[in-house]
Amino acid sequence: MKYFGAHVSASGGVENAPLNAHTIGATAFALFTKNQRQWTAAPLSPKSIEAFGGNCRTDHYQPAQILPHDSYLINLGHPDEEGLRKSRAAFLDEMRRCEQLGLDRLNFHPGSHLGQITIEECLRRVAESINLTLAATRGVTAVIENTAGQGSNVGFAFEHLAAIIERVEDKSRVGVCIDTCHAFAAGYDLGSEAACDRTFDELERVVGFGYLRGMHLNDAMKPLGSRVDRHQSLGEGTLGMTVFRYIARDKRFDDMPLILETPDESRWPQEIALLKELAEG
Ligand SMILES: [Zn+2]
Ligand SMILES: [Zn+2]
Repeated sequence: MKYFGAHVSASGGVENAPLNAHTIGATAFALFTKNQRQWTAAPLSPKSIEAFGGNCRTDHYQPAQILPHDSYLINLGHPDEEGLRKSRAAFLDEMRRCEQLGLDRLNFHPGSHLGQITIEECLRRVAESINLTLAATRGVTAVIENTAGQGSNVGFAFEHLAAIIERVEDKSRVGVCIDTCHAFAAGYDLGSEAACDRTFDELERVVGFGYLRGMHLNDAMKPLGSRVDRHQSLGEGTLGMTVFRYIARDKRFDDMPLILETPDESRWPQEIALLKELAEG
């Protein structure tokens, strides 16, 4: 099955996310389980946890259709000890929130070296952060997202994702999420069928589709290799529709959340309907 959705609002409580997803015709969704711009949040209430589960059951959302995203403040490869400690504590809290909600994966951006350590050292810290978190939790997979390579963000090369996975002890609970805009911005061409073949062959060779736990479907505002993380609505950017048609029709992307993070929320119902049509076509 193909599961298409968007990163929907959880304002007023996580239990609202499945309702918001259902409203736009989504068969998948992403959410923040806490305010993404704050370090700490009140624990999820038993009432909220129960309502989330109930709403997911009513609208038929299984864990494989849900891709929670962690806070943007977290940097699991932070160069200094205090920054790393704070990030690891916040990430553990996010993983526990997913556990409480019965979810099986948490999507995060690997981290930034901030110009103070090498990429290799940053990746090593990210892997160690994952190991510490997995040892303290159960059932939730750490899903590393590829980045556009903006600023000092690591994770823009598939080799970075592979290097992190290589150091993770429990390989059954680590995965990747590929963002089409980020890949294109990082220099992986997805602008034609042949380019998609090449880029996804490279993903298979370097990382392996066995680790794929979700996709972010975003068109890009800037050209190939720009290293700029600016999303655009499907078909309105420098990528065009080819890659989205390709993903919709390719079985390697079945049974996982395929999530829009496109800027114009009012277009999500149409974008989801279009993706469903492409998958059937
Ligand atoms: Zn993304
Ligand atoms: Zn992005």
